[in-house]
Amino acid sequence: MTDPIATLLGERERLARAAGRIMERCDELAAISSLPGAVCRTYLTPEHRRCNERVSRWLVDAGLGHRQDQAGNLWGSLKSDRAGAPSLILGSHLDTVADAGKYDGILGVLLGLEAMALLNGAGARFPFHIDLVGFGDEEGTRFGATLLGSRAVAGTWDPAWFALADTDGTTLADALEAFGCDPDSIGRCSRAEDELLGYLEVHIEQGPGAGRAGAVTGCGVRHRRCEALSFDDRGHGGPRGHRAHGAAPRCPGGRRRRGCAGGSAGAPVGDRGHGGPAGMSPRLRQCDTRKLPADGRYPGR
Ligand SMILES: [Zn+2]
Repeated sequence: MTDPIATLLGERERLARAAGRIMERCDELAAISSLPGAVCRTYLTPEHRRCNERVSRWLVDAGLGHRQDQAGNLWGSLKSDRAGAPSLILGSHLDTVADAGKYDGILGVLLGLEAMALLNGAGARFPFHIDLVGFGDEEGTRFGATLLGSRAVAGTWDPAWFALADTDGTTLADALEAFGCDPDSIGRCSRAEDELLGYLEVHIEQGPGAGRAGAVTGCGVRHRRCEALSFDDRGHGGPRGHRAHGAAPRCPGGRRRRGCAGGSAGAPVGDRGHGGPAGMSPRLRQCDTRKLPADGRYPGR
């Protein structure tokens, strides 16, 4: 019996087209911005909605499932035929800082989407589900608290955050409702740890102004234990390395961003600490950036 993955890996032209599609889609999403001439897409805004709609359309085109959770995170799915199968999650964040690089976070979502599309198209099926997540908020640009999307998924949402307001005075609770989310149902975003196989994220870090400077402050792979196996990490000043390359303009309704914002979940922007998604469990929140050759294999496999 032919192995669909081996066949797929041998189809170099098809893979090259897929890579080109990822790059084109990064450009397309970069155009969904509240700042003319720069990338700015913050949580629960019209730009966030348009971005989720665009990525949902690509998921549909690939024959994959899609849904939006009560925190505004976008999910895609490639289902296993096995009943009760756990899920492997791929993805990253779809929000940006002001004047962001167009690959930061976005590349991780689009790589996952393309991989799932290729696997689905090749007829590959696994004894586990593959889920794609596009977190609605990692950067904390609008409400001044980071990692809100993954905090909801980790089940560690703090109800006090509902009262956070952007610079226009819109509270997080009101913004969620305007986005079609039910703040009272935020707990339904949580994924049970025993239903999860792992989490894999490819992430390019780009600080504000990186789109103009062409700079990447770090690049890595996070896997289940959330170790960012980082290379070319020139963003010291915080493990996530969001270092400003120039004055960061302010997104409409958002907060001005200064320097590193790779803070711990829910921490104010500018608070330095371990970054990464809030994770699927307390273990996953203990992120650790190391300078190592990138290797995303699951330990023991
Ligand atoms: Zn990022």
